[in-house]
Amino acid sequence: MWHELSPQCITAACPAGSTSTYLPVPSCDDPRIDDDPSAEMAHQPWHRRSLLLAATTLAGTLAVAAFTVSHRGVAEGQLTLGAVTAKHNEKQQHRGAPILGAYGFANGGGYCKGALNREANLRKGGEKCFCLFTGRCKEHFRHCEHQTLEECQRFACAGRNALEVTLDAASFTNMKDAADILTIPVPYYKDLSALKACRHDADTFLAVLLQAGRRVFMGARAGGALRPHAEWQCIHFPGHMSVEWLHLHTFSGHVPGESLPAHPPHAVCTNTSVDPWEAAHFMLSVLPR
Ligand SMILES: [Zn+2]
Repeated sequence: MWHELSPQCITAACPAGSTSTYLPVPSCDDPRIDDDPSAEMAHQPWHRRSLLLAATTLAGTLAVAAFTVSHRGVAEGQLTLGAVTAKHNEKQQHRGAPILGAYGFANGGGYCKGALNREANLRKGGEKCFCLFTGRCKEHFRHCEHQTLEECQRFACAGRNALEVTLDAASFTNMKDAADILTIPVPYYKDLSALKACRHDADTFLAVLLQAGRRVFMGARAGGALRPHAEWQCIHFPGHMSVEWLHLHTFSGHVPGESLPAHPPHAVCTNTSVDPWEAAHFMLSVLPR
């Protein structure tokens, strides 16, 4: 049996603006976690140096000013918790991922900059609907101007609503097959390669997605009365995805419209009897890059 990852800030239980939903990241009410990026930044040597300067020299005044600007520059986003829309700190989306732009191109350089750029990859209706299920991107749907987010989701995305949205993952039914639950990361990753290359805790994060898929499959009774638990979880490899937003399929038996389950190089699948951490490690390890 696999052990629970202890999701701690799922949906309504989590106050707006709180952060990650899984261990080893501290829980919602951990005083170290608030919307102040300084807690994270303080661990960085360059920042410690700048604080020292701030305390002793005129240059320090400039450092404090620069920090204040960066603090104020944190964008406020929206997060959907079921039917509820809550404030969400956009900066938290890529906690654990390299901070791009400001400090140069870490872990994959320009590749990550492109593979994590949600707006640049919202090319087709599929990607736009995925974004809508995370609680964002309503502005991309002209006819949704006077609709609620939920109305817009149903109107624009084949009558579907998100089944569960956390700060990490959004789950909903596959348009092609209602018995297939799709789970996507709320912060944008183009595909599994992007997650592997651009996030240092990719295995932990993927385990959270796997667990969300299993939970939502059961909660939504996607397998019907006879199949309460999911059997397989699969991720299509880059080049074999119909929607360019990393997504996990959770289902029992087969999904004929998606040719799942399948093997590399088309997709990687794990049985749900496997611990989500082990399954995540396996999925990332079979990826070519
Ligand atoms: Zn797929």
